[in-house]
Amino acid sequence: DSMIDRLEHSFEQQRRFVQDASHELRTPLAAIRTNIEVAEMDGEISPDEYRQLVETIKSQTARLTRLSEDLLLLSANEEGGERELEPVPLVALAQEVAAQLGPLARARNVAIRVEGDARLEAEAEPDGLFRCVFNLVDNAIKYSGDGRLVTIRAAREATEAKVSVIDNGPGIPEEEQAHVFERFFRVDKGRSRQEGGTGLGLAIVRELVGNMGGTVSIASKPGEGSTFSIGLAAAPDAPERTATFAGRQATA
Ligand code: ADP
Repeated sequence: DSMIDRLEHSFEQQRRFVQDASHELRTPLAAIRTNIEVAEMDGEISPDEYRQLVETIKSQTARLTRLSEDLLLLSANEEGGERELEPVPLVALAQEVAAQLGPLARARNVAIRVEGDARLEAEAEPDGLFRCVFNLVDNAIKYSGDGRLVTIRAAREATEAKVSVIDNGPGIPEEEQAHVFERFFRVDKGRSRQEGGTGLGLAIVRELVGNMGGTVSIASKPGEGSTFSIGLAAAPDAPERTATFAGRQATA
């Protein structure tokens, strides 16, 4: 009976997911269609209005691209299974994330700081972990805003290597904290949309980290900020050397 219950629960979840995903796809598609229809109304719109329509079509298309990439990433990782893990230098990874998100941070007047022992390495899948830290820092920048500081901290805790992303932004109400890792859950829908969010960033983090045998947690206080932490098995400390983590690509 409990197996049937589990199967039913999993079918129900799958059904909900397909429903939510279709809904998310429909919104930008409808916007694109409306804008094309308006653009087709010959002679009735100015060149400026025309440009505006094209801009909207472009941004909605970008949104669809992000959505389909995130959906693909999630379904590719859903299969689970053993992942090839290797020692990943956390400070070097954090520095690369900070470098790639530098332009966004500067545009939002947010400073990024990286802290920790450069020798600390986690047993992880490098591209997957990069993507996770990237998503967390991307959120911290987007939701914190003007004049804030985002800290990426790597620290050893007993047998764990932890990488935390700390912001002093608006924080997340306690009753919402348990839900932020769910697919398509947003605390503030309008804000997420305006930022071009897919609502899948944290679900991807949970999925990828879980596949590496790690955990992700949140600590947050409204008005004070949020800390998202990824805990993985620590690799034996690397010898003193300059670890590098270059050339990774994240699809932002
Ligand atoms: P989204 O694409 O909406 O950013 P995520 O899964 O990355 O989707 O995040 C889910 C929701 O959690 C966001 O919509 C936002 O409301 C909230 N959130 C995530 N990170 C932060 C943060 N650092 N500070 C405040 N709220 C956050």
